[in-house]
Amino acid sequence: MGEVATIGAGARLAEVYSTLHSYGRTLPAGCGPTVGIAGLTLGGGIGLLGRRYGLTCDRLIGVQVVLADGSVVDCAEDREPELFWALRGAGGGQFGVVTVLRFATVPEPLATRVEARWSGGALEDVVSAWQAWAPDAPDELTVNLSVASEPGVPMEATLFGASLLGEGPTRELLQPFVSSADSIELRAGLPFHRLKSTFADPRGVPAVRMRSEFFSHSMSAGTVSSLLAQLAKGGREIAFTAMGGAYNRVAEDATAFAHRGERFLLEHIGAVDDPWVDDSWATAHVDGSGRVYPNFPDPALGDWASAYHAGNCSRLVAVKDAYDPDRLFTFFQGVS
Ligand SMILES: Cc1cc2nc3c(=O)[nH]c(=O)nc-3n(C[C@H](O)[C@H](O)[C@H](O)COP(=O)(O)OP(=O)(O)OC[C@H]3O[C@@H](n4cnc5c(N)ncnc54)[C@H](O)[C@@H]3O)c2cc1C
Repeated sequence: MGEVATIGAGARLAEVYSTLHSYGRTLPAGCGPTVGIAGLTLGGGIGLLGRRYGLTCDRLIGVQVVLADGSVVDCAEDREPELFWALRGAGGGQFGVVTVLRFATVPEPLATRVEARWSGGALEDVVSAWQAWAPDAPDELTVNLSVASEPGVPMEATLFGASLLGEGPTRELLQPFVSSADSIELRAGLPFHRLKSTFADPRGVPAVRMRSEFFSHSMSAGTVSSLLAQLAKGGREIAFTAMGGAYNRVAEDATAFAHRGERFLLEHIGAVDDPWVDDSWATAHVDGSGRVYPNFPDPALGDWASAYHAGNCSRLVAVKDAYDPDRLFTFFQGVS
């Protein structure tokens, strides 16, 4: 295999990580073990190694695609470059059926698993401090934050993530932020695929509704306290994912993934019929960048094309015209 991994489009992340592990390699990619490598990569691919190594699609070096006319093409930087460009961040279901993906892998690191918890108390301060700090942390440290409510119990915030810096330096970096936490646990020396599996939910994927948005600036203190007040009822969660680092060292038009100046992603996750999901999204949207991760599609978006693709929209339409002129691959919110 060397440093290049050739992966069939049907592979899921759990088997991708475990197979790469046997070669001492890995990829920056997501946490869900059942998530497919194809959909994840074609829409971007955000994960715990991303601030160090970029999106999953940033590691892509070649793709085999069956086009609308039935022909099979191999695309890369120097072959069908516009198709290759479009498949890195806006490719899910849009231009053809991807059959094979080739990646430049990275060495599998030994990582330190980070988890800290706060219960009740001044969670506004925790959220505000996370926004100001986590997106600017060293690339080797990715810590995300979730705040969740359950009926009848105090709201809880959980910081979780991975560090490639070793236990001592990690503890030192975290110290100012976690000094108010009720608990903090660091587990050093975990091969990355093992660390990933500790964050997979053993209950599988719950039936929930989620809306999200990117933020290029911190939310105001007023927005944060409104969000937490709305969250309080129970069975609800807001989850912050740190961006920055290597994600943002790529130009917005270098690949079709346009969101290269964002500090974090915020998800609002609740019951399918809970109007809170829309209310919470609207509260945060006041401070949001108006951009949305294409892999978290949102049927409620108004101007979805610019939310997903920003300045890359017209170039994507040109690729569509070239590779799928009769619009065989058509779906709600697809490039048209
Ligand atoms: C439990 C869970 C955890 C997640 N965690 C993360 C995470 O950590 N990081 C992250 O970035 N995202 C995450 N996601 C979002 C994930 O990236 C998207 O749901 C992604 O679209 C999944 O791809 P799939 O191939 O599994 O899904 P599918 O539903 O099969 O496909 C999704 C889209 O990709 C297209 N597609 C799939 N295969 C191909 C192909 N071979 N050729 C062309 N188009 C194709 C489909 O047409 C569709 O538009 C998560 C999702 C879930 C459900």
